[in-house]
Amino acid sequence: MVFDPIYLVLMVPAMVLMFLAQARIKGTYHRYSQIPSSLGMTGAEVAQTILAKKGINQVRVEPVAGELSDHYDPGAKTVRLSQAIYESSSLAAAAVAAHECGHVLQDVQGYQFMNLRAALVPTVNLGSNLGPILIMAGLFLNWLNLAWLGVGLFSAVLVFHLVTLPVEFDASSRALRLVDELGILQGEENKGARAVLNAAALTYVATAFYAFLNLLYYVVLINRRR
Ligand SMILES: [Zn+2]
Repeated sequence: MVFDPIYLVLMVPAMVLMFLAQARIKGTYHRYSQIPSSLGMTGAEVAQTILAKKGINQVRVEPVAGELSDHYDPGAKTVRLSQAIYESSSLAAAAVAAHECGHVLQDVQGYQFMNLRAALVPTVNLGSNLGPILIMAGLFLNWLNLAWLGVGLFSAVLVFHLVTLPVEFDASSRALRLVDELGILQGEENKGARAVLNAAALTYVATAFYAFLNLLYYVVLINRRR
């Protein structure tokens, strides 16, 4: 499959884009994790301050293992910050912590794209696992309806990544407003936070683009059989 020219034309650029986006977020994150904010609040303090100022008492903030493993768990009502973000008072830490609080606000306010994204998760798990199996089995058995069924299931992956975009962009724009309005970051520091969150946003765009090209690749594979 790797030597298939269509695979090379579609999937290699997608992988390169993913790689570049990952390299960019790592670089940007590294750069701004070296710059302390003038107020010196840690990621944990940033998150706790935002939640307190917004009157959100039911959400906990705790550290979690791993790098860039930061997330908000709506089920457990917990913001989990990677150890480095939790403890650091850098611009990057403030940006990431505020971004996760952006997701908390989405949850509290019933932001529709977030609900839609959560509702898609079971279908995505099924589609990403079973979809390619059905496609390959359909191609192998020359039973194209089965392959198309696989494409239908796999398209849920693309929908999921497309719905992820407004969720992430919205969380970041909320984060940037919050750190500015609450005075957590001052003046030029806001630009650093913006750079970190923009680089993170690019990884979501690259992932959606990858999912699109992956789906297109399967469609081309099946169409070739006709
Ligand atoms: Zn996010």
